[in-house]
Amino acid sequence: MNFKNVTVAGSGVLGYQIAFQTAFHGFKVSVYDINNEVLAKAKAKFYELCECYKQDLNATQEQLDNTFNNLSYHSNLAEAVKDADLLVEAVPEDANIKTEFYKQLSQVAPEKTLFATNTSTMLPSHFKDLTGRPEKFLALHFSNKIWTFNMAEIMGHAGTDKKVFDDVVEFAKAIGMMALPIYKEQPGHLLNSMLVPFLISATELWVKEVSDHEMIDRAWMKSFGSPLGPFAILDIIGINTVYNVAKLNAETNPNMTPLMEKLDAEFIKPGHLGMFAGKGFYSYPNPTYASEDFLKS
Ligand code: NAD
Repeated sequence: MNFKNVTVAGSGVLGYQIAFQTAFHGFKVSVYDINNEVLAKAKAKFYELCECYKQDLNATQEQLDNTFNNLSYHSNLAEAVKDADLLVEAVPEDANIKTEFYKQLSQVAPEKTLFATNTSTMLPSHFKDLTGRPEKFLALHFSNKIWTFNMAEIMGHAGTDKKVFDDVVEFAKAIGMMALPIYKEQPGHLLNSMLVPFLISATELWVKEVSDHEMIDRAWMKSFGSPLGPFAILDIIGINTVYNVAKLNAETNPNMTPLMEKLDAEFIKPGHLGMFAGKGFYSYPNPTYASEDFLKS
């Protein structure tokens, strides 16, 4: 692996974390998003991340200064990718947006650039033919709060070059991840293959008003000594992504329509987009589930 320059496309919930973590580990990172206004928001979020890195990783001011020196910001895709050894795509979980993105990217990226998608629910083989370089394309999937939940799942499609796969495994390690290679293409990788059915079951209880989100979380947390219940996890994932997944599934599964509609009315429209927005199912920075009283009888 001989990467120096990495481009991260999309600076939302996951993209800005991937960019910062990569820059923190010494790579030059070009952050690409649709306009300068969104990029300014990402920059502001980088300053918030500094506190997390200081608190959780004992990061020094010098390390954080170097991280900022490694970051550059672009709203022009050709410029953002012109030197990239690797592009990590973290644009919204929407097949149409990703399709358009890969069509544009394949026109402007240098031949050497490897492409990695951070999609949580789609497969690299869905997009491989749009990339113009299927053998240099695979999935590199991170978890939210990347600096502490530092694992990366690496999953190629049948035509991904073995060296490309191995290089991306090495890259993941180089940015401080526990690398989890996946040997067969699997929707949801390892984590989401387990997590998504669990979260869907929890949201079904909520949509049917079997109980409220706090009681459902309590049932899970108390039984397993878990610090998080399903609705706290949904807030961490971000309600935007949850809504997009529900919308995608509703196209083929009408049972998902009530969830999609309820999320839209109660969370998307009023802007309650989860932990990073300060409000989702819970209010932040002090959600009730984190208080000592939450699990008291
Ligand atoms: P998000 O909606 O928070 O952010 C998406 C970003 O992409 C936004 O900044 C948006 O402006 C930008 N964008 C939109 N169109 C674009 C385009 N054409 N080119 C470049 N940027 C564009 O989404 P997210 O939650 O960060 O998810 C991004 C990807 O990461 C998805 O594929 C998702 O499945 C995956 N992912 C998300 C999580 C999570 O917990 N949120 C975890 C793992 C993986």
